[in-house]
Amino acid sequence: MKQIALFEKPLEITPVVPLSGDYGANRLYMKRDDMIPFSFGGNKARKAAEFYKEIKKKDIDVVMTYGSNSSNHCRIIANMAAAMGLSCHIISPEENREILYNTRLVEQFGASVETCPVSQVAETIDRRIKTFEKEGRKPYFITGGGHGNPGTESYVKAYEEIEGWEKEKGIHFDYIFHASGTGATQAGLVCGQLLSEEKLQKDAESRSRKIVGISIAREEGRGREVVKDSIREYLGGRFEKLYREDALIFTDKYRCGGYGAYTDEIKALIDKVMKQEGIPMDTTYVGKAFWGMLQYLRDNQIDNKKILFIHTGGTPLYFDRL
Ligand SMILES: *Cc1c(COP(=O)(O)O)cnc(C)c1O
Repeated sequence: MKQIALFEKPLEITPVVPLSGDYGANRLYMKRDDMIPFSFGGNKARKAAEFYKEIKKKDIDVVMTYGSNSSNHCRIIANMAAAMGLSCHIISPEENREILYNTRLVEQFGASVETCPVSQVAETIDRRIKTFEKEGRKPYFITGGGHGNPGTESYVKAYEEIEGWEKEKGIHFDYIFHASGTGATQAGLVCGQLLSEEKLQKDAESRSRKIVGISIAREEGRGREVVKDSIREYLGGRFEKLYREDALIFTDKYRCGGYGAYTDEIKALIDKVMKQEGIPMDTTYVGKAFWGMLQYLRDNQIDNKKILFIHTGGTPLYFDRL
């Protein structure tokens, strides 16, 4: 198994940049997780750095995952496996066969893609793992989207980076916004906050900060439950003591109908941010969540606050729309 030197050390902290454009009555900053220097970056790269450590501990020769082969997640996992000299096998829903830049990259990394109907995903994964094992191969399965404790852990670390940055600059963010999909990003940020509160013995400043996940697909009921389950899984025995319902804000008000859907207003905002800030955003996650954040601030009459938006990546998707 080959090493990825970048993942052998803790990741360097990603830049936090102030935005210059006029986006209403608040001061906006963006944490550029899209600049994590592996495979076009993003939250899947941050998560992959943790999965890398898990894989390194084991005797593995094939990395498996589930997801659309046009997804950011599959791109990063296929790239990581290729860099480690391991095979990569992706189980992909046959319903979504869009060919995007990510699809081409997954091909370039030499991953094998097995499609199945969405309704048969669980059986297909099980069957493939058993087949590999029968052949004497040693598979490691990564849940779709990089869900699970390593994924959560990666955003606990991101939260620590944010606190470190605030301390250094003397700036306190009243809100942290981000695109919420499978929920690991949000679970990590919330766990980061809860653990920090424990350390600081319920420091009022950390507690007053709100972390808001803008759902890009899921409805509030299910979306919240999944994030909460990940928080419970990560905190384990400490969950009952540390968890508070009001630390988990997940809104489905800005989904525009569901996964992948967007409006002309979102497109116009993406163009404005690219022109004004030089920051690319995609329509499925980051552009939509950034738009959702501006609506949320307006709908809740929030002003004169310091706001951090986490850019979770998806840069190849930007070019699909050009
Ligand atoms: C996957 C993804 C998300 C959502 O992250 P989750 O941890 O699944 O909630 C947000 N932004 C981008 C660009 C993504 O690829």
